[in-house]
Amino acid sequence: MRIAIMGAGLSGLACAITLEKYGYQPDIFERRGMVGDRFSIAEAMFSLFHTPYDDAVKYLSETYDIHLKPSSNLQKVYFYSENESSFIDGHLGFTNMRGKHPQSYEKQLASQLKGEVRYNQEVSYEEISKEYTHVVLATGDALDTKKLQPYDVAFKASFHGAVIRGDFNQTEAHAFFNNNLAPKGMAYLLPNDDYEASLVLVYPQYPENESLDKEQLWKQCFEEVCTKLDQDFEVVHEYSIKDYRVGKTETGRIGNTFFVGNCWGAITPVFGFGQFESMLTGIYAAQDIAGVGDYEELVKPLSQSYHDSLSLRRALEKLDNKQLDLVTKSINNQLLESLITSKKLNFFKIISRIIHPFSRNT
Ligand SMILES: Cc1cc2nc3c(=O)[nH]c(=O)nc-3n(C[C@H](O)[C@H](O)[C@H](O)COP(=O)(O)OP(=O)(O)OC[C@H]3O[C@@H](n4cnc5c(N)ncnc54)[C@H](O)[C@@H]3O)c2cc1C
Repeated sequence: MRIAIMGAGLSGLACAITLEKYGYQPDIFERRGMVGDRFSIAEAMFSLFHTPYDDAVKYLSETYDIHLKPSSNLQKVYFYSENESSFIDGHLGFTNMRGKHPQSYEKQLASQLKGEVRYNQEVSYEEISKEYTHVVLATGDALDTKKLQPYDVAFKASFHGAVIRGDFNQTEAHAFFNNNLAPKGMAYLLPNDDYEASLVLVYPQYPENESLDKEQLWKQCFEEVCTKLDQDFEVVHEYSIKDYRVGKTETGRIGNTFFVGNCWGAITPVFGFGQFESMLTGIYAAQDIAGVGDYEELVKPLSQSYHDSLSLRRALEKLDNKQLDLVTKSINNQLLESLITSKKLNFFKIISRIIHPFSRNT
């Protein structure tokens, strides 16, 4: 058996580590000169979205022998709409670094690999599939999947982000739902450490959003964040991403080709989280190749949560600012705390029901 993994990101590396545990030596191709060769930003894994695995880091460690050290434990998330604010607290999840940061998740995964990554190798599926019996498509890009099978794009997202300098509490994140700043989208701030944070403005590229002045939205967003957090932040570094596809493949496997991470549809549409799902799909593909699991069966719960998340997104998108104010106001700390600590409840289903009265008449 000759196994090629295209892409040394979260899904490709999780797949490679798992294959090595089963005694296989995949060839891993990475187009960049090193793992995580992109700007450093903070990302998060929230417990709420990973039911029934309330602690994703512990779960990966205990179940798959993959060990990650997050940057911080998230204890509090603040929500802001145009005129309201609220928060939830408890053990909400983790933040972690991505990209060039020495402790980024991709670098942590690469350090658990026994074999070598073949760097500066931008390979195509056509060439690879001639030489290998098994190919794992882990390039993080749905366009690569689209060349091989239908990929249902729920929406394309436009990101504008920055690393900002100020005073931050590493255990606290902030989320902004305001159609004036992020139409049908959101802005959020995740701390990198005590002095820097990652601020992201993300919204879907629907036709009605195409004519928006992106610079103006970003300016408004930045000012709003400074006002709400009562600080004059300094921008260290800015970046933009366009056409980031959120969607899902029709099938996870065609012959001996496995679609993992974003190439499978790991991003949960409502808030755009996909790290845990990416690593899980990589692990599941490895288990199938090693003959200890069935990929299509293993990804079924992830498919379900993708669809639940998409329904929730569609409901949220219907809300105007007044309704977003009502939802923000009605976030009841006790109710959410019990949701978060419950390992049995499906967050997406329950929150959809909370939002339903606000979204049904619009
Ligand atoms: C701005 C932003 C913020 C995000 N925030 C969060 C968050 O807070 N929480 C969360 O859970 N998720 C978040 N996500 C989503 C998450 O980052 C992705 O779901 C996850 O990284 C996807 O993993 P992957 O393995 O599919 O791709 P990646 O981790 O991107 O890896 C793909 C790798 O393949 C390589 N590659 C590409 N093409 C080729 C080729 N032809 N040959 C060889 N190598 C190739 C790339 O260089 C890269 O190293 C965010 C995404 C973005 C864009």
